[in-house]
Amino acid sequence: MNLALPIAAGTAAAAATLAGGWLVTRRDWSRRMLAYFIALGAGFMLAAVFLEILPEAVLQSGNTAWLLALLGYFLVHFFEHTLAPHLHFGEETHLAEVAHQHAGQFAVLGLGIHALFDGVAIGSGFLVSGYLGGVIFLAVLLHKVPEGFTVASLLLASGQSRRSSLAGTATLAAATLAGVALMRFLPAEVGPALAFSGGVTLYVAATDLLPEVNKQPQPRMPLMVFAGVALMLALRFLAFR
Ligand SMILES: [Zn+2]
Ligand SMILES: [Zn+2]
Repeated sequence: MNLALPIAAGTAAAAATLAGGWLVTRRDWSRRMLAYFIALGAGFMLAAVFLEILPEAVLQSGNTAWLLALLGYFLVHFFEHTLAPHLHFGEETHLAEVAHQHAGQFAVLGLGIHALFDGVAIGSGFLVSGYLGGVIFLAVLLHKVPEGFTVASLLLASGQSRRSSLAGTATLAAATLAGVALMRFLPAEVGPALAFSGGVTLYVAATDLLPEVNKQPQPRMPLMVFAGVALMLALRFLAFR
């Protein structure tokens, strides 16, 4: 397998996470721009899960893929929303909720597990084909800026310094790179890895991102989700699939 592609994709995804974290420390970032990314990402990710990731996982692992996808889905639910006292995508404004002593650490842990599987998904995709790797890379990239933004914003709101909020963001970036690297050593597990990370992606798109889209005051924001779906359909069409 050509190693350059997954490494470049993992690095670009990690850089996007850092860009999101950096955005928080600037005063003039655009809330509307971030919301567009979340909406476009949610639509594209959902379409990629149903049209590309899960069908390929079932092809590789049979019906076991569905169980693994369910486990992946609930792994994120556990780490992001059961263990972590307060976590949601977007700007953190609930100072009382995140003042909880370990809110920051649990948020980094929860998002870190999710970020690890973003990397596993990218690595697995490229093991199957350049097309699948590219599609998964785009699905990850589209939500990486909001992801970095979320963790940095939460850490700052919980009273951490700018420096340690950027360190938290760097942890997520590193977790994604580790996920890509992990699949280099587990090429035989590509089927289960796709199924599991497909479940993770489903959670992030449908349960983390879509509710944030629907909270936006701009009436046209939910339409952007369809633009994400259309983008995935266009890629399929262009690839003659
Ligand atoms: Zn909050
Ligand atoms: Zn992610």
